[in-house]
Amino acid sequence: MANRFTSSFTKNSYDKTSELIVYGASVYGEIAFYTLQTMGIKPDFFCDRAIEKDYYFDVKVIRPYELNLHKNAMIIIASSDYFQEIRKQLIDAGCKNLYNMNYLLNVKIDTEVLSARAADFYDKKEAYIAIANAEDSEECLNFPRIQFVVTSACTLKCRDCTALMQYYKTPQNSDLELYKAGFDRLLKCVNTIFDLRILGGEPFVNRDMYKIIEWYHDSDEIKMISVFTNGTIIPDENNIGQLKREKVRVHISDYGFNRDKILKLKTVFDKNNVRYYVQPYDFWQDSGNLLKRNYTKEKKRYLFERCRERECFSYFNGRLYHCPRAAHGINIGAMPDIKEEYVDLMDNSVCDDEILRQLKFQRNRNYIDACDYCDGVDSHKSKLEPAIQISHYKKFSE
Ligand code: SF4
Repeated sequence: MANRFTSSFTKNSYDKTSELIVYGASVYGEIAFYTLQTMGIKPDFFCDRAIEKDYYFDVKVIRPYELNLHKNAMIIIASSDYFQEIRKQLIDAGCKNLYNMNYLLNVKIDTEVLSARAADFYDKKEAYIAIANAEDSEECLNFPRIQFVVTSACTLKCRDCTALMQYYKTPQNSDLELYKAGFDRLLKCVNTIFDLRILGGEPFVNRDMYKIIEWYHDSDEIKMISVFTNGTIIPDENNIGQLKREKVRVHISDYGFNRDKILKLKTVFDKNNVRYYVQPYDFWQDSGNLLKRNYTKEKKRYLFERCRERECFSYFNGRLYHCPRAAHGINIGAMPDIKEEYVDLMDNSVCDDEILRQLKFQRNRNYIDACDYCDGVDSHKSKLEPAIQISHYKKFSE
């Protein structure tokens, strides 16, 4: 399928006399590599701004600033969250032969060869395809994903949780009925949310979680709904009734020690035709403690640009934050409550036009203040054992 800006890369579109570049040396880059391999094609280069290695899958990695030497190359955009951003950057760099992965994502590959994260993204390919096909202009306001936080309570206490649950002394469920008005207002302003993610803490701790699906499943603006669980709670009938709806997919995090509970959950989901995916984790990453670092602006920009959480806009208690770390860092008082760090969708003294302006402002920022309390999150950073359990809540300096 072709859209206004990119064509779908197929075997027939491949021109052996042209260079082939895969832009994105992360999960979609990995999927592109294996699907191209199935078609007997090897890319000449990967392009990526964050990776610090010179080779990815034995293919040389170039940086975006080098693209002016490859203007006639065929370039496959291997990223969903940054698809539109990369497309604009390529057009600005004078590259014309731009391709999406819509066809490649339907090429059958042995998913066993993929890393756990890549296999997860391969399974929810419709989010990529919807983004690649979407209308995109200055007037459009699209979000690759928005996370609706339904609770700060969790059944696990993971030392390195990126959502900062390990710092909560008194976790609480969010009052969904109360904050529905703010999310309704958000939906009035956006064109598309490609993936609405429901998460916590552990989302099934909040037994009203199902209401979000009930309210928003049929919204045209929302293309897909994902629920992120650690598999330790069997949802009740109300929740199951909504989880089995068409747009919904449950992501179950497999940390090894929770496998018995996951087995029970899978049995319930299978019986009720709930679509789910179990993701084992190879590793987590450490974003450091919650103390202020006093970075320069350049350093904050550097971390933000490479951060894979920066498109994880989080709707939490009526406010839309740029990332979960900012949402929870401000909520627990580790970071100052600065108005520019979020959009307060419950503030009725502000008109909808102003809310739209603030949303666009957040969408276009090149760093946020919260980055000064963070070591950054990128796919190529040092790796930690996932979900190490602790018995106490953490201090900001830990
Ligand atoms: S605070 Fe900045 S660097 Fe850290 S996760 Fe959020 S956007 Fe990324």
